[in-house]
Amino acid sequence: MSLKPTMSKDAQQLHDLIVGKILGHERGHERDQQTKDYILGISDMGWCREYARHMVLKTPRDPGYVRKERYDWAAMIGRSLESSVLDALQAGDLVLKRGLEVSVVLPSGLRIKGHPDAVLVGVLDGVDVVIDVKTKDGLAAPMKDGADLQQQFQRRLYGHACKQEGLVSGDVKVGNLWLDRSASSDQWAWVELEDLEDYMLDEVDQWLSDVTYAVTHDEPAMQDQPYHMCEAVCPFFVSCRGDAEPPEVVDDPHGVVDRAAAAMRQATALEREAKDLRRSYREEVEGVTGKTERFSITSTRINESETPAQFRKAHTRVTIRERKR
Ligand code: SF4
Repeated sequence: MSLKPTMSKDAQQLHDLIVGKILGHERGHERDQQTKDYILGISDMGWCREYARHMVLKTPRDPGYVRKERYDWAAMIGRSLESSVLDALQAGDLVLKRGLEVSVVLPSGLRIKGHPDAVLVGVLDGVDVVIDVKTKDGLAAPMKDGADLQQQFQRRLYGHACKQEGLVSGDVKVGNLWLDRSASSDQWAWVELEDLEDYMLDEVDQWLSDVTYAVTHDEPAMQDQPYHMCEAVCPFFVSCRGDAEPPEVVDDPHGVVDRAAAAMRQATALEREAKDLRRSYREEVEGVTGKTERFSITSTRINESETPAQFRKAHTRVTIRERKR
């Protein structure tokens, strides 16, 4: 039994129309066009060297390739949120440069184009900050691990591009602003900053030289992304690793394992639905203490505390994924 309420036929039709329009609009975005034209941009640096090699070689994309919709949906939410945040900053007394298209020239002479989110002019005691905005469902990961390689390369390249184009001057800082789109904790935003240094361009050149080497020697480059991510978003998945890790065929003549796996998948989906249900109604009751017709509600504020490390018993983790057909 599904916990999800069903929509009427008309409501479903309108839902499909709206979602289709949003996804279509998202997929027609300018940065996606750059990707369609096989142009490597600043945001591609640090992601996957084998992907970059395929882009350089203009490898045909997998027939019927469409990025999984949830990634387009997340990108749309991120872009909308980022735009509202920048509007808010601009409405105050901050001097902001946004909507920029810049390019950076690496020490090797390679030029790469990109679109930084914003330059905050003189925001830290006169120091300019080039900031890249990211949205996440909860900020635990960036708070713990900080920016990954792709995010570091991205902000540093935007910083250097802005510097080379005279959009910033003097000492410059670059950073990420992460925004929590779930609003489920008190930590709504997280910032990581660093000074812009020259060596940062050499690191990107080094990363790209691995790609160039692989192209000129006609050999694969480093596969930097995990299999599940490749499968979800990469247009070169089949040519790159479609057969590299085929699921082992389980001896299951009566379909027992297959049915059990399906049940576990369903259970996971129900758990997710239940979690969504709780989250979507939570703000109606959070902070309420008292009685309704049917319930007694108590809201108690729990103060922040360090959780001591816990002992975890050895166990077997089971991962079940839908097979590609
Ligand atoms: S399938 Fe994965 S490893 Fe291969 S190019 Fe794409 S992202 Fe890189």
